[in-house]
Amino acid sequence: MKTYIVETKNIIHNVQVLKQKAGKATIWGVVKGNGYGLGAARLAQVLYEEGITHFAVTALEEAAALREEQREDMQILMLRETSDPRELEQLLQLDVICTIGSVEAAEAVNAAAHTVGKKARAHVKLDTGMGRYGFLPQQIEQAKALWKYENIEMEGVFTHFYRGGNEKVRNQQFAAFQAMVTELRQAGCEVGMVHCCNSLAFWYGPEMHLDAVRLGSCLLGRVCYAQEAGLMRVGYVQADVEALRTIPKGHNVGYGGDCQVKRETKIAVIGVGYLHGFSVERGYDVFRPRDCIHSMARYLKYLLKRHCLTVEINGKTCPVLGHVGMVNLIADVTDIPCALHDPVVVQVNPLDLKAMEVRFQ
Ligand SMILES: *Cc1c(COP(=O)(O)O)cnc(C)c1O
Repeated sequence: MKTYIVETKNIIHNVQVLKQKAGKATIWGVVKGNGYGLGAARLAQVLYEEGITHFAVTALEEAAALREEQREDMQILMLRETSDPRELEQLLQLDVICTIGSVEAAEAVNAAAHTVGKKARAHVKLDTGMGRYGFLPQQIEQAKALWKYENIEMEGVFTHFYRGGNEKVRNQQFAAFQAMVTELRQAGCEVGMVHCCNSLAFWYGPEMHLDAVRLGSCLLGRVCYAQEAGLMRVGYVQADVEALRTIPKGHNVGYGGDCQVKRETKIAVIGVGYLHGFSVERGYDVFRPRDCIHSMARYLKYLLKRHCLTVEINGKTCPVLGHVGMVNLIADVTDIPCALHDPVVVQVNPLDLKAMEVRFQ
């Protein structure tokens, strides 16, 4: 048996820390990627109970899931630009605020609003360096023209940092953003809510909080400043010892023949493997030469430092032996008390979670 346990009280703790830092700025709880793996609606519910009423998504399904509960004051912002008429119509029906970063998207939102028969709400996206959605500084005239659409109510303007943790890059992007916002204001555009910070910029650039901040990974404590800020990890895989055996000195453990035990060893087999998200490397493609080189480098590191992966059994940290399998891993429990079916705690990034039930506790 294995379950991903979400520690709700830790999320609540993180929200309190972040709220303190945010001060008067509105927090958009970013619940994209199905709530960073925890479930968009369930995560949003916890945040809502802590007073967060603004949510940002990147999928229609996430917006629909959030709207299942009737919460009058809940605002939902779609961070992705879309010009797909059907998707837009559904977003408008769900009263989702759209992102507009191009003339094409503006035309599409305006048309969808006409079809649905109600005014669309939108935020304008400015590209200050990310290179994804948005009007470039040299396209500011196009952005100014957005306020003329009959069926669109412009409620905000935002940009996104591509290196929020880097002071120089962050300052450059922020300056470009402010210059564009000023131009819009001078042209008489009512810009509404102005926002730019993600988790990294939020922490390292408090002077950039403006009207609102968009926080995702820090809600789960998954940011480099977690320790410094006192943010907590919010979940773990709860598994159990499925088999317990003793193997003789020199015996192999796992695929590849890279691990031979140096002593008689008590091993515990645990039913969590890379299929479930343990120890996976994101974005690895065996057909891409660069990835193969990276993977070789990783393998060398593994050979040098075999015992870098661990799990926790009965409150004790145990090294993982050999390569992690698809559906199981093997832990060295020679030095600790360990019985069959004892509970095991395995750390997995929820973004990598698969084939497992998620339970909020
Ligand atoms: C993902 C995302 C965020 C949140 O980023 P975190 O670093 O996880 O806080 C904010 N804004 C946009 C546009 C995003 O895509």
